[in-house]
Amino acid sequence: MTGAAPRKVWLGFGGNIGDVTSAMGVALRSLDDQANTKVVNVSSIYKTPPWGVTDQPWFQNCCAEIETQLSPEQLLDVCQDAERAGKRERILRWGPRTIDIDILVYDGVEQNEQRLTIPHPRIAERAFVLVPLCEIAADLVLNGNNVCQLAKAIDKEGIEKTDSCTDWWKNQ
Ligand code: AMP
Repeated sequence: MTGAAPRKVWLGFGGNIGDVTSAMGVALRSLDDQANTKVVNVSSIYKTPPWGVTDQPWFQNCCAEIETQLSPEQLLDVCQDAERAGKRERILRWGPRTIDIDILVYDGVEQNEQRLTIPHPRIAERAFVLVPLCEIAADLVLNGNNVCQLAKAIDKEGIEKTDSCTDWWKNQ
């Protein structure tokens, strides 16, 4: 990477249709392949109960730390391209495949805009984000609260680590 100093960002990934592990791996590798972005650390994958609408398949979730020279909006563009690529594969080839990518924290940025709110406003109420995030960002503080303390306090019923190999995304 050349130019602007890279910034640390934490992303959340999840999905519940098709081969989610593969879709998350493809998305992580496409981020890592960008000239100005590097995947630094990826959590294990967790199986998590659906949140909100509960009458749907269980999810798989993970979190990743990246370093990037992209602005928050440019990074959202890249993440949304990766989401669309996952969904395109579903239509063209191997059946359902849906992936969502959230920008959880972008180091030093706080903004509340229509397209992009940072930090993501619902981290503290979502065990499926806090548990994988605590695994890779034990010292991260969110609105004055340490993410692992938040993870410790929240209801984690049903959440299970399915794979503790943090290089899983390189092999999908
Ligand atoms: P969803 O499909 O529920 O993940 O919502 C996606 C929408 O949330 C997109 O249109 C984004 O513009 C918006 N959004 C707002 N804040 C964020 C964020 N921190 N990370 C990702 N998407 C965000």
